[in-house]
Amino acid sequence: MSSSTNPTSTAYQKAVQELGLKPNIAKALEIPDRELTVEVPFRRDNGELESVIGYRVQHNNTRGPFKGGIRYHQHVDIEEVRSLATLMTWKTSLLDIPYGGGKGGIGVDPSKYSKTEIERMSRRFFRSIDPIIGVNIDIPAPDVNTNAQIMSWFMDEYSQIHGYSPAIVTGKPLELGGSEGREAATGRGTAIITREAAEKWGLELKNSKVVIQGFGNVGSYAGKFLHEYGCKIIGVSDVTGGLYNPDGLDIPSLFEYNYQNRTINGFKKGKKISNEELLALDCDFLIPAALGSAINDSNVHLINCKVIVEAANGPVTGEAANKLWDRKVPIIPDILTNAGGVTVSYFEWVQNLQQFKWTEDDVNKKLEEKMVHAFDEVFALKQQKKVPMRIASFMVAIDRVYNAYTLREG
Ligand code: GLU
Repeated sequence: MSSSTNPTSTAYQKAVQELGLKPNIAKALEIPDRELTVEVPFRRDNGELESVIGYRVQHNNTRGPFKGGIRYHQHVDIEEVRSLATLMTWKTSLLDIPYGGGKGGIGVDPSKYSKTEIERMSRRFFRSIDPIIGVNIDIPAPDVNTNAQIMSWFMDEYSQIHGYSPAIVTGKPLELGGSEGREAATGRGTAIITREAAEKWGLELKNSKVVIQGFGNVGSYAGKFLHEYGCKIIGVSDVTGGLYNPDGLDIPSLFEYNYQNRTINGFKKGKKISNEELLALDCDFLIPAALGSAINDSNVHLINCKVIVEAANGPVTGEAANKLWDRKVPIIPDILTNAGGVTVSYFEWVQNLQQFKWTEDDVNKKLEEKMVHAFDEVFALKQQKKVPMRIASFMVAIDRVYNAYTLREG
């Protein structure tokens, strides 16, 4: 990603300018603390050896241990991981949770491997990054194409070396110290933020038209909760294509179908549409919940919604964001919208350290409080400074890290 298409670096520069920060410190905060690239050899089921490349980038730990997910995707490379690690620093700061930012990944298409191959690859990767992670140092979590099962293997690998250590990763299954509410948290947070945005932009949430691009963990749970709020989810898509119903899709059945089959492909109710047609649907809220750069220079002219709610990380490029700003289409940024995941990861880690389990109600109440508080803080600053929500979010987040950094280094 060049710096002009990378919404993180564009927003960073603008926020630093607005805040009037000292350039030397602003520069220091942009540079990742540490980057590790590892070879990950593992045995295929046919006995042959194969090697893939893995990464862990630790961007900043001024306010607490590095924190962030690990993704498995063929597009993963050091630049993408670096950019996502940076985003995590601002996300944890924005929510005011005591973490820094990190991210990891393996450049691999996991659909091409069996479960046992993924297990061997995952365990080997975790052993390779062992020298730089730790319960109070760097705590990984799930991201694109990784899940609670993979976190169990990570936790098991680490615990074999260091002794029983559930707090080394979050997003674990409940049986291994996972938290109630973690699986649904990113989608729940997205729904809460959409609800808050509706109120502030004077849109009636009930019967509002919602389109969700991407129906993985984040998109499917966001759809489920928005449906419960009374929204009409008129379009959803995944890598296999989209489904449309102007009266609202049957979300409870679609959620169940997708949960079982890991795809919406084959679900009978709804008209099939392409990803392009989906992005062009006339709606109140468009929620990109798939991969980065989904809304870019080539398709931004198609967008026909009142508000964009970024549930994925970096789904709107910098250029596309500028054009939408000119068209007065607000974008609720990723570091705010999808922060529910890392927030409940934090709750999971706290429960692991305390060895004391919270109820689902405790988790959801605290998540709600955190998300609404962060939204209000950003919205107030946006009104005061007359800047887009993304810039206001970065301003809140950077200022907090800047102040902590100055206290530690100054
Ligand atoms: N991968 C998620 C994110 O991008 C969650 C990270 C975490 O829980 O540490 O925010």
